[in-house]
Amino acid sequence: MDRVECVVVGAGVVGLAIARRLARSGREVIVLEAADAIGRATSSRNSEVIHAGIYYPAGSLMARTCVSGRRALYAYCREYGIPYRNCGKLIVATTEREAGRLRSIRAHAEANGVEDMQLLSGDDARTLEPALHCVAALLSPSTGIIDSHAFMLALRGDAERDAAAFAFYTPLLRAKTTPHGLEIETGGDTPMTLACDLLINAAGLGAAAVARSIEGMPVDRIPPAYLAKGNYFSCSARTPFSRLIYPVPEPGGLGVHLTLDLAGQARFGPDVEWIDTPDYDVDPARATRFYPAIRRYWPELPDGALIPAYSGIRPKIVPPAVAQQDFVIEGPADHGVAGLINLFGIESPGLTSSLAIADHVAALAGR
Ligand SMILES: Cc1cc2nc3c(=O)[nH]c(=O)nc-3n(C[C@H](O)[C@H](O)[C@H](O)COP(=O)(O)OP(=O)(O)OC[C@H]3O[C@@H](n4cnc5c(N)ncnc54)[C@H](O)[C@@H]3O)c2cc1C
Repeated sequence: MDRVECVVVGAGVVGLAIARRLARSGREVIVLEAADAIGRATSSRNSEVIHAGIYYPAGSLMARTCVSGRRALYAYCREYGIPYRNCGKLIVATTEREAGRLRSIRAHAEANGVEDMQLLSGDDARTLEPALHCVAALLSPSTGIIDSHAFMLALRGDAERDAAAFAFYTPLLRAKTTPHGLEIETGGDTPMTLACDLLINAAGLGAAAVARSIEGMPVDRIPPAYLAKGNYFSCSARTPFSRLIYPVPEPGGLGVHLTLDLAGQARFGPDVEWIDTPDYDVDPARATRFYPAIRRYWPELPDGALIPAYSGIRPKIVPPAVAQQDFVIEGPADHGVAGLINLFGIESPGLTSSLAIADHVAALAGR
């Protein structure tokens, strides 16, 4: 049986960042990916926003990895020439009641280490974005956007330079512990059995299923899996904004916000639609909820301008009634299985956090 030091399951942005990090520290790494290429799942179905780290609960893994991951990501983009734009974002209050909440949002951001947020009057905000309707706003200068695919390609290239190997069409089917580490069975065109010292489960929406397929993994350490789809609409009209525009969040969601891609094209969303089985179709009827929400901050949105675009699915580990979850990254000290690290619930800001998550996993793995 072939033996490899580390196996990473999943070639999304998080699995890639981990593979790169481990390969850089001299470990022998193979990445097993069920799909035909890198970044086929959630990593290519998101907003491509480099988040500042404003809302996550203070001290949470999300808050910590978002702030440090964001800094690392900007540095990585500069070093590797990854297309990105540090465009900033405005959180806009459209009523006096919402305006009253901006100070507490800023205070929360500061507690997370996001110290550059600026409170703006409605007029000041309109100096930046003349088409905006709001009574006040918070500017987050450190928010940005990134070409996530270019980022993933660079991570893969980096990992391969340090001798990491990639096996596509190669789903992990099951694994078990042995006295000498872990033993893995894969499916796909050329099924194989592999022995390894370290198994990293970065399978995104498939992480709970992968964990369940590992003999000896205690089921009570596997969180439940829920699916929260996020639908996007693009805009056929020219959008007059150069920053990302977010409403003041309501309980349960960030509200219908406007993000931009690097070509300046606007998209609205994602909303939240709880589903039982993965499907990526966008129901055009959902636009009826988008129009009034967007017109609160952009009254000029023309009728008929919203076009169903794409969707992504958040790998939730808490049910709909629970507003907030944190990343769950657990090693042997948590679940008792030597050589295994599981990553669960890596939803937003997983792209922003990816480099910091990789450092966290490397530390858990003793690297
Ligand atoms: C709607 C939406 C918007 C988002 N917007 C942002 C944003 O703007 N900014 C931000 O920072 N984050 C954002 N995120 C979060 C970010 O996209 C994710 O956190 C990140 O992409 C997760 O990466 P991943 O590698 O963990 O998972 P994935 O990209 O899902 O990769 C997991 C991989 O594992 C593979 N796999 C699964 N099972 C197996 C198996 N048994 N064997 C082998 N391979 C397997 C899958 O094929 C897949 O390729 C958003 C998420 C969503 C859903």
